[in-house]
Amino acid sequence: MFALKRFDIQYVKGIGPERGKLLTSELGIRTAFDLLRHYPTGYIDRTKTYSIRSLHQATGEFPSLQLRGRFVSFNIIGEGASMRLIGLFTDGTATIDCVWFRGVRETRKRLATGREYVLFGKPSYFHDILQMTHPEVDPPETADNAPGVRAVYPLTEKLRQRNLGSKALHTAIVNFLNAHKTPLRDPLPPSVIQSLGLLSIDEAIRNIHFPQSPKKLERAKLRLKFEELFYIQTDMLMRSRQRKSMIQGYIMPHIGKWFNDFYHNCLPFDLTGAQKRVIKEIRADIISGRQMNRLVQGDVGSGKTLVALMSMLLAIDNGYQACLMAPTEILATQHYETISNLAAKIGLNVKLLTGSTRTKQRRLIDEGLRDGSIHILVGTHAVIEEKVVFNRLGFAVIDEQHRFGVAQRARLWQKSDIPPHVLVMTATPIPRTLAMTVYGDLDVSVIDELPPGRKPVSTVLRYDEQRTRVINGIRTQLAAGHQVYIVYPLVKENEKLDLKSVTEGFEAAQKIFAPYKVALVHGKMKSAEKDQQMSLFASGEAAILVATTVIEVGVNVPNATTMVIENAERFGLSQLHQLRGRVGRGGDRSHCILMSKHNIGNDTRKRLELMTSTTDGFIIAEADMQMRGPGDIEGTAQSGLPFDLKIANLAHDGQIIQMARRAAEALLDSDPSLSANENRFFASALASMLNRETDWSRIS
Ligand code: ADP
Ligand code: MG
Repeated sequence: MFALKRFDIQYVKGIGPERGKLLTSELGIRTAFDLLRHYPTGYIDRTKTYSIRSLHQATGEFPSLQLRGRFVSFNIIGEGASMRLIGLFTDGTATIDCVWFRGVRETRKRLATGREYVLFGKPSYFHDILQMTHPEVDPPETADNAPGVRAVYPLTEKLRQRNLGSKALHTAIVNFLNAHKTPLRDPLPPSVIQSLGLLSIDEAIRNIHFPQSPKKLERAKLRLKFEELFYIQTDMLMRSRQRKSMIQGYIMPHIGKWFNDFYHNCLPFDLTGAQKRVIKEIRADIISGRQMNRLVQGDVGSGKTLVALMSMLLAIDNGYQACLMAPTEILATQHYETISNLAAKIGLNVKLLTGSTRTKQRRLIDEGLRDGSIHILVGTHAVIEEKVVFNRLGFAVIDEQHRFGVAQRARLWQKSDIPPHVLVMTATPIPRTLAMTVYGDLDVSVIDELPPGRKPVSTVLRYDEQRTRVINGIRTQLAAGHQVYIVYPLVKENEKLDLKSVTEGFEAAQKIFAPYKVALVHGKMKSAEKDQQMSLFASGEAAILVATTVIEVGVNVPNATTMVIENAERFGLSQLHQLRGRVGRGGDRSHCILMSKHNIGNDTRKRLELMTSTTDGFIIAEADMQMRGPGDIEGTAQSGLPFDLKIANLAHDGQIIQMARRAAEALLDSDPSLSANENRFFASALASMLNRETDWSRIS
């Protein structure tokens, strides 16, 4: 199979140089290998022809399907870019519009009214009119009449326009496989195929493109998904095992003055069981002699900052310095203040470094870092800049890491001879199976317990018509001395309108809630102005904060008991959860009010109702992933899978991920470096998938 990586696409029968170039530029298909891995998105049942009337009666989304009938008329409307061809098509039961936006004149020339045609395509509704855009149209005699199903492939408009449609691709693949008499060589280790009873690659590839039976198709999908996930899991595991066995870490055996002083004199409350457990896990790592790379997941408000601080104190007790990085200046500042306050009594030297730190202060910090007198440096990305030099950096904490890429993590390593221990903290709970894939190289700790006395935030969904009631609720909270957030969406594509609504909201709030003071924060403000407004709210001087999502992570104002989220329908679930975490931080009962317009789709309503029914971040993350797919979950995009998944889906294939994980573990247990004879071919396939190229001429 992998030998086909050297088989240029243009030499595949029926493709040629011109179409080859097109496939490369449109779909990234360069070789026969890529062509065979261009998997169908669906299958058309060739044995079945739908009646157009039945389509009019159906509900829900249509599959790609086949129609048979005649065109009654053709009309070309519009000009230039908006020119389109509409063909009215009927089979005698009803009619459907066929629409072409591209290749309008060519298509018009090719087709005639009154002749019989077979149509393939996916019907849809546009303004209540049933239509099929860019269908494949064939006279019945050339439509391929093979029995059973025919694959439908992902395509681009340009390819369709050049007559490189599903049928052409399918034919090319079938011809290629038929001409290729020797079975494709299987990259998976024989032991894995046998123990799991998987289809061979040859059978899987043939069945994914032209299934012998629905059952065979299922097995083909399983095999191909498994293979993709197996590469990823093996790679992750190999790297993490290697790291554990090879990368030396600082040894920090002592629990000394700093930790004990803090524990006995500064800790304002008892640690939760979960906090204690995670601190123990971290301690076990830092005395092991290996470098720690640990992810701490804990829902908003679970007390991650304290865990970070106490771990840093352990490092300081052993003569090392520590740093803590946050994704934004506001957060860094807040962490700096929290830590300085908590540790005020013990004389810890904590400094803040951000992009706006003045030169003079910066010089002092540089000095303190070099001579070792600064214990903890808190900051933004500024901390990992090359010119920041520590005396003995031993421990680094990264908060809300989804904004911190893997590459940035790696830069920390250049700050000391031995890499510092790294603790990554995230409040975005990631479903387990996804974590296994995306953070496979980190060890994971979970803070699964909130500090005692927290009352869950009660969440309700309100429509615009109910605004008066919401306003009255807010007044009650203000009268009781509490503070209120009012949050507006702000997205790039919509920036101008969004800014307008947040400033209008600010003005309205000033009027409605006078004489209470209202602060305003949004991402387009200068950071000094932002900070000034934030501190108005943090100090309690402003009772209301109108804001965009800049307050999403980390901000901590325990007296704020109410959050109103405007246009809640425009937020993702995980984002709503993050936002909601800003209230319910004190001992008082807190409220989150999701405002939405009335006419929202069913899915949106379901999403919002889920928010009102649970405060469990894991349930929400799981649901978010099911609804939106993993690609959209914040932070996972940049975390970088080593290659694009062609068939496996991280949101839906959790079971296969686990299967792949277990198989990878078993394989590496028996052959850690994949050097056994029977695993060598797999090892080169893996290298090739990860783009660590191999010379295939020597292997096959
Ligand atoms: P997050 O995990 O969201 O970063 P924080 O570290 O900001 O949470 O903690 C949230 C709040 O809970 C803070 O005000 C913190 O002081 C408080 N807190 C942390 N640990 C405890 C505890 N064990 N008992 C009571 N309150 C705690
Ligand atoms: Mg936090």
